[in-house]
Amino acid sequence: MEFDIPRETADFAAEVDEVLNSPETARLLAAVRAREDGLDGDVRELYRHLGSAGILAPSWPAEYGGRDADFTATVALLEKLVARGIPQNLYCISVLNVGSLILASGSEQQRKTLLPAMAAAQRIACILFTEPGNGSDLAGITTSATRDGDGWVINGRKTYNLKSAYADLALCAVRTDPNSSQYEGITLFLVPLDAPGVTIRPLPSLADEHFNDIWFTDVRVDDDALFGTTGEGWSLITQMFAAERTGLDYYARGRHWLDLAAERLTAPGGQPSDTALAGLARHRIRIEASKLLSCQVLQNLQEGNADIAESSFAKWHCSETAQRIAWWALDTLGPGVLEPGTDAGARTLEAALREAPGMTISGGASEVMLDIVSSARVFGTGNGED
Ligand SMILES: Cc1cc2nc3c(=O)[nH]c(=O)nc-3n(C[C@H](O)[C@H](O)[C@H](O)COP(=O)(O)OP(=O)(O)OC[C@H]3O[C@@H](n4cnc5c(N)ncnc54)[C@H](O)[C@@H]3O)c2cc1C
Repeated sequence: MEFDIPRETADFAAEVDEVLNSPETARLLAAVRAREDGLDGDVRELYRHLGSAGILAPSWPAEYGGRDADFTATVALLEKLVARGIPQNLYCISVLNVGSLILASGSEQQRKTLLPAMAAAQRIACILFTEPGNGSDLAGITTSATRDGDGWVINGRKTYNLKSAYADLALCAVRTDPNSSQYEGITLFLVPLDAPGVTIRPLPSLADEHFNDIWFTDVRVDDDALFGTTGEGWSLITQMFAAERTGLDYYARGRHWLDLAAERLTAPGGQPSDTALAGLARHRIRIEASKLLSCQVLQNLQEGNADIAESSFAKWHCSETAQRIAWWALDTLGPGVLEPGTDAGARTLEAALREAPGMTISGGASEVMLDIVSSARVFGTGNGED
């Protein structure tokens, strides 16, 4: 597998460095890090600053707030954001996942009104798929939307959401037809989160970022909140999974953690054991494989060849690799990792230990990813969860 990195990507990467090195970025990042509770807090102002520099959606068409760049620009951007310690979840969910789905399958009206604002981080989107009784088995969605005059009324509960507390709208999967098959009765809506009847409550998490529970109580939305057509939800969800499961954000975090651990392991004066160095070499190879798999998926998406099995494999590999790196860093560097003090890099490695368990669950659990891959191998098709 080889990928050509166009000259434009090198120019773009230099531009990103310039923005990330600016005093304003440093000031806004320091404000995010200064939270006393240690949580990845409200990064919207920081992202608005990056968005105003026009660097957040390089691979989108210029008319929707992008730069007409190829996928390698997105890879370079995410590597740099993560390496600088800029919390990436808000960006990945809003721009890379929801934004990319709007670009691929939204109406022209949705593309025109939402994408430039999302590329500028002036509008933020989150994803509301999971329910208390339906995670991997998404086709069991029970949150309902019923027709009411010229609009819809939504009732139900979503859980384990990231970022709804900071989002303006949510891509929400609901059941619009209780009588059709599990897969045919699902519809997607872009729900404004300030609508009356939406209640958001934090849910504790082991990681530096809490989840949210969201209740919809007689939430009324207009027809223009409909994403796609009624009953098209399952096919759109599968399409989004192919784009969400590139593994890119897992790869970028794994690479950053490996670099931080390697810096400590090979610091002058240290005497790393042969076992530690062999582990480092093994993880370097795995992380390079993560990058290649992720780039392969991104390139195929760019060329219109989305493949859910290929994405599932990349997501599985990148998340499992990042998780193993976090645990390997603890085993290799010793329990000092658990008492990071004021060392920012060590704090990142400690936080990685708490973030790692969720990586092989979020965006599709590892067992389910392997199930999709094996179904595709056996039956020649990977058609999403069931
Ligand atoms: C960090 C994080 C962020 C998240 N963010 C969001 C978000 O923003 N929005 C959102 O909607 N959801 C979000 N989720 C929820 C996530 O999508 C679900 O947790 C995930 O799909 C798994 O569902 P579940 O928790 O119900 O577990 P289950 O589906 O109950 O799975 C439990 C275990 O059973 C295994 N399992 C399930 N089915 C099978 C099968 N067919 N074969 C073999 N094993 C199986 C799973 O692999 C897992 O190990 C997030 C989760 C995490 C951890």
